[in-house]
Amino acid sequence: MTYTVKGAMQPPAATAVADLAAENQALQGRLAYLLEQAERNHSIMCRHQAFDLEIVGSGTFPELVGTIFRTLPVISELDCVTLSLIDEGADIHTVMLKLGVVFEDFPNLIFVEEMEQLGFDVGPRTAASPVPKPVLGMYDSVRHGSSFPNAPAGMQSIALVPLLRNKRIIGCLNLGSIDPARFTPSMGTDFIEHMASIIAICLENVISNEMLKYIGLTDSLTGVYNRRYIDRRLLEEIARARRQGYPISFMYIDIDHFKRVNDTVGHQGGDEVLREVAGRIKAELRVSDALARFGGEEFVVLLIDADLDSAAFVAERIRAGVAASLIALAPDMQMSVTVSIGVACLKDAAPDADAAKLGHELIAQADASLYQAKESGRNRVVSYR
Ligand code: GH3
Ligand code: MG
Ligand code: MG
Repeated sequence: MTYTVKGAMQPPAATAVADLAAENQALQGRLAYLLEQAERNHSIMCRHQAFDLEIVGSGTFPELVGTIFRTLPVISELDCVTLSLIDEGADIHTVMLKLGVVFEDFPNLIFVEEMEQLGFDVGPRTAASPVPKPVLGMYDSVRHGSSFPNAPAGMQSIALVPLLRNKRIIGCLNLGSIDPARFTPSMGTDFIEHMASIIAICLENVISNEMLKYIGLTDSLTGVYNRRYIDRRLLEEIARARRQGYPISFMYIDIDHFKRVNDTVGHQGGDEVLREVAGRIKAELRVSDALARFGGEEFVVLLIDADLDSAAFVAERIRAGVAASLIALAPDMQMSVTVSIGVACLKDAAPDADAAKLGHELIAQADASLYQAKESGRNRVVSYR
């Protein structure tokens, strides 16, 4: 039963006005909210466009992954961003290391051998959905821990977004948030899929560029640098050494009587000897030193911040290391080889001297010393004084 109290009721017209006013206020509030959302979305879009431009412009692998790790958490308001890359045989990792990438700078970069290690079940690929879709949901440290090696405390929801190139999965972009509602299975994934597709293209581009760069700078037989690399590096190092006032040294190494080696064990056996000698030289060097095969059976070493005496000391160790033990070529075939080494040093160069000219002189001096080492009986080190 309802009671109507006479006189307590507003006149009908006034109620309508009050209702309208309330509705109007509610609508205005809603409009303000929508405008705010639209502005926020616009700002997110602009930041993402700037991000896209920045990653598309990345020239190197560290530049690209650096941008992803630095910028994406900020513009997407995420608490954790990691990147898993499929790297069968560790080729990418090896080449990047050789090109000087410092992996300690990227603790959220993960290399896996195969797709199954990406930390999620990519699910069956059906005719309707031939490529794996992003996985969104709650974070589970057991299932997802390997994709988030440095997960922040309280991480709640995640998105594992496959990186695809021509329907082939090359890795996974892993996004994490402490907000449990940030990624839920019912959410649309168009936006993150689009972002992942741009990241995948950029990754593939920089990786193949770095691989080409690497191939162009290394000797395919021995895996050490080639002449082109040393010519370029020498110029850079001479400029730096002059600026910072430290000496650099150069070694010219030539295998003794290598023609005889080929004559004895054949060209393939000779190649094996070249690889072994490269390895023995390398074993005596610091990471800052650069070893290259200059051609044929000749190697050179560029030593940074090393004076003539310390370079000669390293050279002597190399000479002894090569001569120390027989090189095994087959179960029943061993042979001994020796090297002759010429060493020269560049220090106190005039600041205005031409770097290319200084480089040529340094190589010529090491070459002249090598010639003396050969003349005086081989298997020895001669320093240019
Ligand atoms: P020396 O002690 O005066 O240096 O004598 P050598 O026989 O080493 O001198 P030389 O420089 O005349 O000979 C180098 C030989 O190296 C000749 C060439 O056939 C061989 N050679 C050059 N490149 C390669 C290669 O890639 N593989 C193999 N197996 N042999 C090579
Ligand atoms: Mg030679
Ligand atoms: Mg020789």
